[in-house]
Amino acid sequence: MSGLQDLYREIILDHYRAPRNRGELPAPPAQKVEGFNPLCGDEVVLYLDIDVEVDGGVVTDVKTGGQGCSISQASTSMMSAAVKGKSIDDARTLIRAFKALMSIHESKLEGGDEGDLGADLEGVRLGDLEALQGVVKFPVRIKCATLAWNVLQQGLDETEASSG
Ligand code: ZN
Repeated sequence: MSGLQDLYREIILDHYRAPRNRGELPAPPAQKVEGFNPLCGDEVVLYLDIDVEVDGGVVTDVKTGGQGCSISQASTSMMSAAVKGKSIDDARTLIRAFKALMSIHESKLEGGDEGDLGADLEGVRLGDLEALQGVVKFPVRIKCATLAWNVLQQGLDETEASSG
């Protein structure tokens, strides 16, 4: 088990030290969305290029900015790599799956039913994102890990609202 923890730590540090898709896109046409986690001081800025003409919307490019702890910045990097090139539907599936991953431990502690959460995770390949599952042992850090995903969700919602 400690071997796996070491691997997870390596993956998180790799994304923190060499964040993927760092930069800016001209906005507009790109959509700029920002989020802040006051508990930790994390800040995430996303630039989303979404082509609404294709497949109900495709995230053609993602750039990220912001600053904060290693968990928030690694999660931002992993999220950007995971959703780039994906359809809006697939991106939303990833958001649900990642949030399920972050809440499974909590619902187990509360003795709750994790059936729905399991369904959200089923068949979704999270790849590097699984490295963040250790975060659920530290509830205060969960908001660090989910910040980028909440910002992404906000960006997708705004895009769909403005494209009708
Ligand atoms: Zn943080």
